[in-house]
Amino acid sequence: MIFPLLRFGAAVVFCTTISAGASGIPLRQSKEATSRPQAELQAIDMKPTVMKFGGTSVEDTTAFRNVTSIVRLAAGSRPVIVVSAIGGFTNALLASVERAIAGDSRGASKLLDKHFERHLVIAKDLLGKESHAAFVSLIGDARGKIRQLHKIIASHPVTSPPLQDEIVAYGEQLSSQLLAAVLCENGLGARGVDARSCVKTDENYGSAAPQGETVEATRTVLLPLLKAAKIPVLGGFIGSTARGVTTTLGRGGSDYSAALIGAAIGAREIQIWTDVSGVLTADPRLVPHAQTIPVLSYHEAAELAYFGAKVLHPKTIQPAIDQNIPVRVCNSRAPKNRGTLIVSESEAAPQTVKAIAHKNGITTVQVTSARMLGAYGFLRKLFEVFDQHRTAVDVVTTSEVSVSLSIDEASSLDALKADLEKLGKVEVEAQRTIISIVGEGLRNTPGIAARVFSVINDINVSMISFGSSSVNLTFMVDEAQAAIAVARLHQIFFEGSPQPDDELTGVRAASPRAHNREEVVV
Ligand code: ADP
Ligand code: ASP
Ligand code: MG
Repeated sequence: MIFPLLRFGAAVVFCTTISAGASGIPLRQSKEATSRPQAELQAIDMKPTVMKFGGTSVEDTTAFRNVTSIVRLAAGSRPVIVVSAIGGFTNALLASVERAIAGDSRGASKLLDKHFERHLVIAKDLLGKESHAAFVSLIGDARGKIRQLHKIIASHPVTSPPLQDEIVAYGEQLSSQLLAAVLCENGLGARGVDARSCVKTDENYGSAAPQGETVEATRTVLLPLLKAAKIPVLGGFIGSTARGVTTTLGRGGSDYSAALIGAAIGAREIQIWTDVSGVLTADPRLVPHAQTIPVLSYHEAAELAYFGAKVLHPKTIQPAIDQNIPVRVCNSRAPKNRGTLIVSESEAAPQTVKAIAHKNGITTVQVTSARMLGAYGFLRKLFEVFDQHRTAVDVVTTSEVSVSLSIDEASSLDALKADLEKLGKVEVEAQRTIISIVGEGLRNTPGIAARVFSVINDINVSMISFGSSSVNLTFMVDEAQAAIAVARLHQIFFEGSPQPDDELTGVRAASPRAHNREEVVV
């Protein structure tokens, strides 16, 4: 009798669906009614703007204040807010499920204490007496409910996939309720919306796929609110099945939620507010002086996201392409920076390369078989094995008698390998990194490959893939050499030739062109 418990709206006590009418927290109606600007009323015919704030943009009181200022400035452009769990909470919720699966339900619940306290500190700092009391009660309910779920998992670990999603979804439920209350407190007409009534998915818990019903459901819930000049606030990352069971879209999935919602309501723009000033020329954790790319095409952005640029979830771009909606990536700590605009077409950069992405933790699998020579049907059989084990392949290269494939999810590797061995000799290499050089016009620019490989000619490179997409040159290196390879490539394409000191560190000291995490604080 566990599943009926999971249907939201029936058993999830704290969440407030739109049918309940509001954020669940008392609104300061008088302020809202008197300060609503004329422009906001006139804007009712405008297309909405979806604004998604990631975990670091809502990590503490200062971050909530920044978000409030940003939303206030955008109040005339019919904003719809999508928000992640407060920074670090999703990791903690997942760790708590692991602890519960190991049988320690008390320890599992304890892991979350400090994160509930963080919510309470923000609520205390930013909410008035009434709405603060309502949020304290919401947190109490969530805590009690999660404690119960930990106990169920500890005694029946097989129940964990749907229960894990149920628990993890509290991250976005709480952040969205808290943000809606903070916005209301500041005179902005926000309404907390349960995103599970909008984003309808299949039952693939932990990585659910949105279904077509999402469009109608989202429109039904959001359009009346927009018409009434309200600001809907939804949690990203979460959805529900047709039976009303909670699901999640996969790590980093709030960007995807924002794009799905934006596409459903025909948004003017989908804005991804994060902790860096847009999509940068490389991962700033490897190249601290990476620079903002002003404009990217959908195609370039999708390749960068797919090959490791964490700033965008890889599935974010498709809904935007479907409806031709621009996506803008901006910095919630420096909102005056223009960030990166992603549109259907962008000009090639003068040096052709726009950015370098990398993705660690890759496993490569090489299958060698003389049976492949001149035979048809071999590749089909090979891919069927990956299909059976539900394992996605990123890059593929072939020779006459062997095929190399890369995967980033190796949980079924042993079983996969056993089945592949029926087709040929199998060699597996773990701890590899995919490096991807991205830019419109790459395929038609002579000399690019020579420049790339000459600067890393002392690093062992494999699985080179060039030309399958017009915007991308991809290859594999050992994880231990990824940092130095990315830093050197960044130097030749964005900073002039390599400097001698990079041989020691792989990364040169940050330059004044840094991407300015904290240039302008609202
Ligand atoms: P959020 O919590 O806002 O969703 P994420 O942590 O998911 O933020 O994504 C932002 C982070 O992505 C940045 O802090 C940066 O470290 C990382 N990142 C990796 N590659 C890139 C890139 N090419 N451009 C910008 N950020 C990148
Ligand atoms: N909170 C979720 C995560 O950390 C979703 C997101 O932030 O995009 O993965
Ligand atoms: Mg993210």
